[in-house]
Amino acid sequence: MGAGVLSTYRDLLPLTSATPMITMGEGDTPLVKSNRLGRELGCPELYFKLEGCNPTGSFKDRGMVVAIAKALEEGSRAIMCASTGNTSASAAAFGAHCDIPTFVLIPKGEVAMGKLAQAMIYGAKVIMVNANFDVALGLVREFTERNDVTLVNSVNPNRIEGQKTAAFEVVDALGDAPDLLFIPVGNAGNITAYWKGFREYQDLGRSQTLPRMMGFQAEGAAPIVRGEIVANPQTIASAIRIGNPASWSGAIEARDGSGGVIDSVSDDEILEAYRLLANKEGIFCEPASAASFAGLVKMHRQGLDLHDKRIVCICTGNGLKDPDLAVSSAGGQAIEIAPTIEAVEAATLGNGELGEPRRSRNSE
Ligand SMILES: *Cc1c(COP(=O)(O)O)cnc(C)c1O
Repeated sequence: MGAGVLSTYRDLLPLTSATPMITMGEGDTPLVKSNRLGRELGCPELYFKLEGCNPTGSFKDRGMVVAIAKALEEGSRAIMCASTGNTSASAAAFGAHCDIPTFVLIPKGEVAMGKLAQAMIYGAKVIMVNANFDVALGLVREFTERNDVTLVNSVNPNRIEGQKTAAFEVVDALGDAPDLLFIPVGNAGNITAYWKGFREYQDLGRSQTLPRMMGFQAEGAAPIVRGEIVANPQTIASAIRIGNPASWSGAIEARDGSGGVIDSVSDDEILEAYRLLANKEGIFCEPASAASFAGLVKMHRQGLDLHDKRIVCICTGNGLKDPDLAVSSAGGQAIEIAPTIEAVEAATLGNGELGEPRRSRNSE
């Protein structure tokens, strides 16, 4: 393992002998068993797939490596994407790695600083447009039709092909598909890709079952839930701030084919899940990623019985991309003290913060 998506799953990807086998170590991400939150929800088998461990900090790298390898194979002169941030970070990194010019169109003022920093330091040509993501994607589609430049958004089917490998990894790790898979939905490429991956693995006999696909949009950017385009999508979760998903029909197919749901969660629910994942599991993901766990919490509150379900929540991206949001939503502040041992003791032991003596609570 650690060999990258192309060589690990070469037989299940659209590769030829002429496809360059590039990799930056994408894929093979951890599937971490919950230590606290699962217990609180009455779900003994809850797992988190940490896609923030990919080379540029999001799952986008899985699809990007395939899209760029095929672009190189076809002799493309440049690559281009519209992005809420992570697609541009991934395209820019692979563009740098493979020495192919990269153009990224980002909606002005809507991209987290860490993601913008990535695109810039990797050396992409960053172009800001005074419009939202959906408009930017429309421009990129038109530009790439008129020019010899490869579009690397998830409307490029090679992106979906690469991203389906995350479903393979889940099955490889668990021995079968989970009962329920919770996943954030923005442009809907990822839910489409997972569903494709689970079905392909079942067709190959590598899994017996299929999961119910549980997709969650942000309330202010929930076109699939509402059944209509949202002209001016709003949510704190910028990676899923999308009003007209390119893979809309793929998401509907995943929902209906799996007996799943596509529902929404509010920004408050997203932020609550974001904090819980961090301070009860040690998982620092970005707000959009927390929509998956927020969806699980919501269904639990609505009475979904989880005690005999094996559940996977996809944590799509790394929380370090937006540290300002983490600091502002963590609530607490660092306290300042004099540099003496008494002051250190007063600030720690004095507040009873150690609690009762304990013996390996986690071995129960
Ligand atoms: C891209 C992205 C999403 C949304 O995925 P879609 O394929 O657009 O539905 C969710 N979370 C993060 C961190 C992302 O980068």
